[in-house]
Amino acid sequence: MKSYRKELWFDTRSRREFINITPQVEECLKESGIREGIVLCNAMHITASVFINDDESGLHNDFEVWLEKLAPEKPYSQYRHNGFEDNADAHLKRSVMGREVVVAVTEGKLDFGPWERIFYGEFDGKRRKRVLVKIIGE
Ligand code: ZN
Repeated sequence: MKSYRKELWFDTRSRREFINITPQVEECLKESGIREGIVLCNAMHITASVFINDDESGLHNDFEVWLEKLAPEKPYSQYRHNGFEDNADAHLKRSVMGREVVVAVTEGKLDFGPWERIFYGEFDGKRRKRVLVKIIGE
């Protein structure tokens, strides 16, 4: 069995952002040389997500509006976590959107359903953060 590990780095300009990281993950898969196996892709920070959905800007706006209803960023004082920090909403949004995704690898390709793409979801940005890509198989 082969094993491959890589960290992808992100430094978003805004507090919240969704980034399609499918091309980077495909690049990792190519580099790994693995043809049959599994890709695990997870955010390495507790205020960011990795999730799979449609690459459609209307939907991404819907996610933003929906998440703001569930866990509004402001007022910061509404959260007990916001003593020294102001990112309680980001922790909550991250929990809703998930930590990681697992994708099957078949014949050297990500074995997606129709319209599935991998996204990095940032909820407390403007700093450097990592995503782990781990691929196992042969
Ligand atoms: Zn925090």
